[in-house]
Amino acid sequence: MTRAAAKSDQALHSRKQLAKVLKDYWGYDSFHELQLPAMESVLADRDSLVVLPTGGGKSLCYQAPAMCREGMAIVISPLISLMKDQVDSLRENGISAAFINSTLTAQEKWEIADQIKGREIKLLYLAPERIQARGQLTRLIESGNPSFVAVDEAHCVSQWGHDFRPHYRELKSLREWFPEISFHGYTATATNRVRADIIEQLGLHEPEVLIGHFDRPNLFYRIAQRDNLLEQVQGVIEKFPSRAGVIYCISRKEVERVTDQLQSLGYRAAAYHAGMDDAQRQANQDAFIKDEIQIIVATVAFGMGIDKPDVRFVIHIGIPKTLENYQQETGRAGRDGLNSECHLFFGGNDARTWKRIFSDQPPTLQQASLESLQTVVDFCHSLDCRHRSLVEHFGQELQEDCGTGCDHCTDGREFEPDSLRYSQMILSSIYRQGEQFATSYTVRVLQGRADDRIRQNAHDELTTYGLLRDKSQETIKAWIGQLVSQGFLGTSGEFGILKITEKGGKLLRGEVEPRLSMPTPKRSSSASRKT
Ligand code: ADP
Ligand code: ZN
Repeated sequence: MTRAAAKSDQALHSRKQLAKVLKDYWGYDSFHELQLPAMESVLADRDSLVVLPTGGGKSLCYQAPAMCREGMAIVISPLISLMKDQVDSLRENGISAAFINSTLTAQEKWEIADQIKGREIKLLYLAPERIQARGQLTRLIESGNPSFVAVDEAHCVSQWGHDFRPHYRELKSLREWFPEISFHGYTATATNRVRADIIEQLGLHEPEVLIGHFDRPNLFYRIAQRDNLLEQVQGVIEKFPSRAGVIYCISRKEVERVTDQLQSLGYRAAAYHAGMDDAQRQANQDAFIKDEIQIIVATVAFGMGIDKPDVRFVIHIGIPKTLENYQQETGRAGRDGLNSECHLFFGGNDARTWKRIFSDQPPTLQQASLESLQTVVDFCHSLDCRHRSLVEHFGQELQEDCGTGCDHCTDGREFEPDSLRYSQMILSSIYRQGEQFATSYTVRVLQGRADDRIRQNAHDELTTYGLLRDKSQETIKAWIGQLVSQGFLGTSGEFGILKITEKGGKLLRGEVEPRLSMPTPKRSSSASRKT
């Protein structure tokens, strides 16, 4: 047999073996997108990085090949609770799996060590903080005849991701201690920067990089400013009577408040956040999964590893921390493939709230967090197809706008006919103000407000002062956001000082056309609500 023929023979054999394992242990008849090549790279001992959206079936990509090989696969997983769930469900399928983390008693550890030495374990889950120095643990792994290492939620190794965990940096030592076995990373976060960082930080060697499709055509995206929040939220819930939904809030306090409000309106709603005691939180989650409650109101703590197929709507009250978070959190809707809706209601204070939260982070991380946050803010103000924006963020392309799956593609899609003129007014005001001020100040100048700060700066004498007197505060704010997201303006520093970009210079000269949304009606100032 030629080498090529031998190779394809081997590939066919692997494929048959994998299909059999999939059927025998999980009862599945076919592979999801990219599962097969992902599994094959494990069987071929080739390092890999697999990027699949939430619900894409990443776990099976390493669990199935583990069953085709001799020895024990090592799985690194960041969440202790997730680890236990995974091991439990593997055992239910008749697979001998175990985990080692800080929750085990000494007795349990001994038992697992014995099973490993007896070569009984096929999949060993490890918390990354277990990997510290060469010693007992490495000897134990050696005794179990390790077959390969799978790193779940691999983006945790990168500070450019949305969930950096310093312990993941220890994984490089694992690679050094076991140079002869292959390493595989799995994540739902695929920006180029994070991807490159994972490869570097895990020391992947010429990895096969597999990236799945990120578009979720059955999800409808709508993003709007907060106005009368409770009415807005109720509007969504009422579209799906008695159907399951998740509401994400930035803070625990807000979770409590929204839960109370919904309960007093008669909805079966419950809270979920890290400040609650474990038992109550778990009980609420279980009740939601069993449809005993309709709506779970949660912080980002909710959702990892939750597999409820029939969530019909996801509402964000406040902007998510990153677009990765948004994709993951909205991705919990419509896992059954049926139409579902994702609504985001943002307000002017959201970014400030996040910045306050970021201020506890080390400086290097803060910079990354601020950049990711700005991407979300731009996404909110963008007038492009939401599906397109999301997919492009994840490094892919969409042939055409979705047409039916987002606010921009379905709403009358009318743009302000005088977009250029209004944009020029805004930019020239920013220019005349010396590019030293943020959005809210600029709005006040354009509206012709007579406040002390404006007077002190003599900005009430600018030719742009009061130029947009007949436009509402919301409109001007939204327009500035749109000009930032379209690249005519940039923001700098923690206060978001507005700067005119090179593209903005072209706009001032009338060489390029911006697109501004139609204005919202102007409310009298006494009726204007705080968001
Ligand atoms: P991810 O980690 O990518 O979010 P999971 O590994 O949790 O996704 O898988 C999501 C769901 O899809 C799970 O319920 C899993 O059992 C199921 N699943 C995975 N692969 C297949 C397959 N080939 N056929 C049918 N169901 C699958
Ligand atoms: Zn669209």
